[in-house]
Formats: sequence, structure tokens, C-alpha cells
Amino acid sequence: MDDITSLAKRRGFVFQDSDIYGGQQGFWDYGPLGTLLKRNVRDAWWRDAVSEHNELIAPAGAPEAFQMVGVETAIIMHPRVWKSSGHYDLFHDFMADCKGCKARFRTDQVAVCAAVTAGGEVAAAEAFMPTDETPNLSKTKQKRLDKKTGEGGEVIRTDLQAFTKRFPDAPLPNCPTCGGDLTEPREFNLMFKTTLGALGGEDDAAFLRPETAQGMFVNYKNVLDSSRVKLPFGICQVGKSFRNEITPRNFTFRSREFEQMEIEFFCRPDASDQWYQYWRDRRFRWYTDHGISESNLILREHHQEELAHYSVGTADIEYKFPFLAEGEYGELEGVAHRGDFDLRSHSEGKLVNRDGKLEVELGEDGKPKHPGSGKSLDYFDAETKEKFVPHVIEPSAGADRATLAFLCEAYEVDEAPDEKGKMQSRTVLRFHPKIAPVKAAVFPLVKKDGMPEKAAEIYGALKRAGLEVAYDQQGAVGRRYRRQDEIGTPVCVTVDGETLENGTVTVRDRDTLEQSRIPANEVTAFVQDKIG
Ligand code: ATP
Repeated sequence: MDDITSLAKRRGFVFQDSDIYGGQQGFWDYGPLGTLLKRNVRDAWWRDAVSEHNELIAPAGAPEAFQMVGVETAIIMHPRVWKSSGHYDLFHDFMADCKGCKARFRTDQVAVCAAVTAGGEVAAAEAFMPTDETPNLSKTKQKRLDKKTGEGGEVIRTDLQAFTKRFPDAPLPNCPTCGGDLTEPREFNLMFKTTLGALGGEDDAAFLRPETAQGMFVNYKNVLDSSRVKLPFGICQVGKSFRNEITPRNFTFRSREFEQMEIEFFCRPDASDQWYQYWRDRRFRWYTDHGISESNLILREHHQEELAHYSVGTADIEYKFPFLAEGEYGELEGVAHRGDFDLRSHSEGKLVNRDGKLEVELGEDGKPKHPGSGKSLDYFDAETKEKFVPHVIEPSAGADRATLAFLCEAYEVDEAPDEKGKMQSRTVLRFHPKIAPVKAAVFPLVKKDGMPEKAAEIYGALKRAGLEVAYDQQGAVGRRYRRQDEIGTPVCVTVDGETLENGTVTVRDRDTLEQSRIPANEVTAFVQDKIG
């Protein structure tokens, strides 16, 4: 992973935010190449979800044809949105601090091994932060625990959050960093608070959205009334979200400011299970269609106890990030069957699950604790004359996590001949051509004999076709190839002596290293064809 992060910085993909001031944890800036890369990820998502979606034909595997529309909604929404949605009361993580070294931990990220006796008592517990290099507890500590289990007992592995839930009376393990005492885990709301207007009282408190989804729910009726969409249909949005993560880490994977690509798909309740299956499979395929190998990707269905109180089913699409321990995967996207929870919450008020039924939560005065808008969000089916609240399937992806996964997947060190034909190690980013930040590079073989002018012509034609293209006339051609390989450019085009004689150029493929000659006036079509 260190090689990937240093390449990302060296070649201008990603920089630490406010770098010259020492940086800020959890915030990242994209450089020139990273900006192109992330834009391609967003565009590929938007094309698939909205612009290339054909509402007249049911896509393969879909129960019927459907419409998809896009919105762009405000980052600071009405504070009541978060009260009805449950984020105000429930959007928190648990954290614990070390009283000694002052380190702060998200309790679900701290691994705990505990010696549990046959009677179910915790005899001793050790905490540690699993990393790729040290995914397990040290052998000495493991042995120490083994001795404490006693007859019939066992050593279990869990995380600090689950540990405190399962053994509320057991003493806390020590700090995984310095061995000092940890504070009792406590709740921490992840929403960034800000103030509207000049007075700044608690009533003026507003929040930066922690997800883009609510923007789609509160506009469901506006979209329905203004776009003449009919069920089933989806509302899509790409935009920034903010979470005050306790322990931002693993490069851009867990940031405090990040971008989401979300779909809220509204459908009839009786068809929702079928749509859930459809979206899980379709979103999984989007990653493999854009270059992620299936062997590095899993679709993980949540266990019943992992599900949010309103969710009927959730599956995560997870990637084998190189910073994770062997066998672990990190979430790229969650696809959730949310039932009618969201629309009902914004209509009736914050809902709680009581004996398997969603009911409005009441305050001490017997009135709704957080009332909704009071507006009906029912759907009237003109054909069947039925009125009902649609169900929602939500595929929710992170643009930064997808970008990071594409970068990790593309990174490879192989061997290729240098300019003298000697095999040398080469760093290459094997991006899918749709994702690659630069699509082609144009080189004049030498800086004379009219070659730069011809190369500039080809460069101009590629630019006019809207393609991102590089021009390089510095150093030996072999070196120039290396520079392009390192940023993942799929095609290099060289103008040489023959170009001036017969109008052909050399095109060289990043992956096969094959070189062939094509007419100079066909270069744009050749590159477009490669991108597909
Ligand atoms: P995690 O369990 O990793 O915190 P989550 O389940 O809370 O993620 P969701 O609320 O389902 O995440 O958000 C949908 C998507 O948004 C995630 O799959 C991820 O791609 C992205 N995302 C969420 N939190 C972050 C973050 N802090 N930094 C970058 N991307 C994020």
C-alpha cells in the first residue's frame, strides 16, 4: 500500500489536504491526475445509472423497464430532516480514549482477544489494532491468555464494541497502543454541526449531510409531480457527504469529507425483493465491468443481527484492499432494501421498530418525538387505483472508495524491455480505458524534421474529440513509455520518420506492449475504439 500512496502523491493523484500546513487527518485533495480519475469514476457511474439507461427496455435481469432521473440537492438540509430520519438520535459510533497516551479509537476497529472460562466469565482480555503486518495478537500474549481460560474455557476473538456489549461487567482491556487504561466506550454523533444565521443557539444548529440519500427522499414528491415518472423509478445523486469519523485512516478509505454516488429506487412493495436482487447483481457487475477482478470482490449479505432496525436486507460489495489483513475486505458500496422506512419517516415522523413493526416514536408528552413533514408521500397507482407507500432499494456507493479500489487494482510492477531492449522492472497502472485519467500520449520521435508539428496535429485532433491526452517530447521514447505506464495511459502514439513518408504512426499498447502502425488520420478513431 505504501508504494501506491507514494505513487499517488508523486504523480499528482492524491495529496494530503492543506499539506503545507502539516495536513489534516481525514481530508484529501485530488491532484491533476486524481481529479481526472475520480471524474471518470463518477461519469462511469452516472452513465450507467442515468444517461445511458434506456427506460423503454427492461435491462437483463430486471423485472420490467424503469426510469432513472438525477438530482443535485443541498448539503445543509432542514435540521428536521435529520430528526425524522433518525440520524440526529442514532447516527453515532462508539469511541474510547486512552487515559495515558490520549489515543482515540473507534471501538469496532479495536480487536480484542479474551480468555473466557467455561462459566462464561472473562478471565483476561487483550486489545490490539490488526494491521496487514500484524493481523493477530502477539504469540506471547496469546499464550498468556491460553493459560487463563481454565478447564473447558476458550480464547475468543472479537472487537471492543462487541466485547463490551457481550460482557458489560468485564474489566476493559488496556489501550492497544500503549497499554494504558481506556475510558468506558461512549457514543459520538458523526454529523458535523454548523450554525445557521447570526444568533447561533441550539435551535439554529444545522448539520452537514452525512449521506446524500435524504436529499432524494425529501424530493420524492417533487420529482413525482414534476417529471411524470411512474413506479418503478430511481432518483440518483452524486455529491459530497461529511462524517466526523473518530479514526479516519487507510488513505482515502475512511475520510471526513467524501463523495457518494447513491440511487434511491422506488418500487411496489410486492416487487421489492426482486428489485433488491436485481440491484445487488447489477452494482456488483459495474465494478467488474470497469476492471475490478471478481477474485478481489465479494458480495456479502448481512446477518440478521447486523441489519439496521428498518432494513429487510442489506448486501455490501467489498474489495480486498491491500491495507487490510489477509482474508478481510473493505466496503465499497451497500445495497439496502429499506422497505417504506424513509418515506414514512418523512411523512409521519421518526420511526422505531416495535415487535417487528415500524411505529412513530413518542416523546414523554405522548406526542411524536420528532414529527415528520405531515405531507402524504403515498403513491397512487392510476392503473390499479391503489394507494400505498413505495418501498425503497438503495445502492449507496462511495466515489472515493471506488477510485481507491480502481487505483489499487490497477497497480502492478512487472518487467518490460527498456530503450535498449533490456528487461527492467516497470510500474504500471492497468486501468480500464474508461477509467484511465489520460487516454493517449503523443510523442514526436525527435524534436526536428517536422515531427513535433505532425505530433501537435494528432494531439489537437484527440483534444477536439474530447479525449484527455498527453504530449511528451522529453528524453528517450522508452522513458516516455515508462512515464505513461506509471499513470496508466492505455495508448502511446509515436510520430517518426515513416510518418513523414507514408503518413503512418506507431501505436503502442500499455498492457501487451505490442506496437503496430496505423494511418495518422485514424488515431482518434483507434483511441475511441480502445475506450469502448
Ligand atoms: P463504514 O461501515 O465503512 O463506515 P457505512 O456502512 O457507514 O461504511 P454507508 O453509510 O452505507 O457506509 O455509506 C455508503 C458508502 O459511502 C460506503 O459504502 C462507502 O463507499 C462510502 N463511505 C461511507 N463512509 C465513508 C467515509 N468515511 N469515507 C469514505 N467513504 C465513505
